[in-house]
Amino acid sequence: VIRMAGVQKWYDSFHVLKDIELEVHKGERIVICGPSGSGKSTLIRCINQLEKHQKGTITVNGVTIDAHHRHLDQVRRDVGMVFQQFNLFPHLTVVENCMLAPMRVRGTSKQEARDIAMKYLARVRIPEQADKYPGQLSGGQQQRVAIARSLCMNPKVMLFDEPTSALDPEMVKEVLDTMIGLAEDGMTMLCVTHEMGFAKSVADRVIFMDRGEIVEQATPAEFFTNPKSERTRNFLGQIL
Ligand code: ATP
Ligand code: MG
Repeated sequence: VIRMAGVQKWYDSFHVLKDIELEVHKGERIVICGPSGSGKSTLIRCINQLEKHQKGTITVNGVTIDAHHRHLDQVRRDVGMVFQQFNLFPHLTVVENCMLAPMRVRGTSKQEARDIAMKYLARVRIPEQADKYPGQLSGGQQQRVAIARSLCMNPKVMLFDEPTSALDPEMVKEVLDTMIGLAEDGMTMLCVTHEMGFAKSVADRVIFMDRGEIVEQATPAEFFTNPKSERTRNFLGQIL
């Protein structure tokens, strides 16, 4: 579903992604972790072209992107993204937030868009919040709306960038449970998160990044019990 080959990116003279090689297969659940500033957000933002890489190729659902061919619309159509900050439109209700992209991008009718929105709001277990505005919801509820909104586009892949790190502790679980539900339904997922419990129970593979490089990739069992690199051991020592 996703393949990154020889991907390099610079912010001006700062080399932020160094020769990234990564494959994500259909139905795989990947967790990316690593120290602050290691390039995790940049990596996933390159996948849906929120950031542009300068070298190498990224193939997403059969569409190949390089420095010169970006195919923004084709790529984003099938890739859902959920951010740390929920990025909901404050002046639209919850259900309207969910209806917007299907109507604008896919030309879905208003009635059908509403039906789809209600289906996914039910799936994230907040259908009763449909007519409220985002500001009237808790952080955990807003993040579940953001997930439902992405699902309304029927994405083939979901990207998450620290979806729980802006939440109060008591709301983290409801969002992680939503993500676990998606994983159980077979969604292909790439999650930047420091929730190591989630990584252990859900991930097929954990990727550790440091200073713009993928230092280590392993199953959670291997990663947590027998990390190969010194850098990984240091990192785990700090967070566990
Ligand atoms: P965190 O865990 O703090 O979210 P991260 O691993 O997601 O960190 P990135 O946000 O990808 O890290 O940033 C990687 C590096 O690139 C950092 O050193 C950051 O300062 C730098 N950087 C990020 N965005 C930009 C930008 N738009 N312009 C210049 N430098 C940037
Ligand atoms: Mg980040």
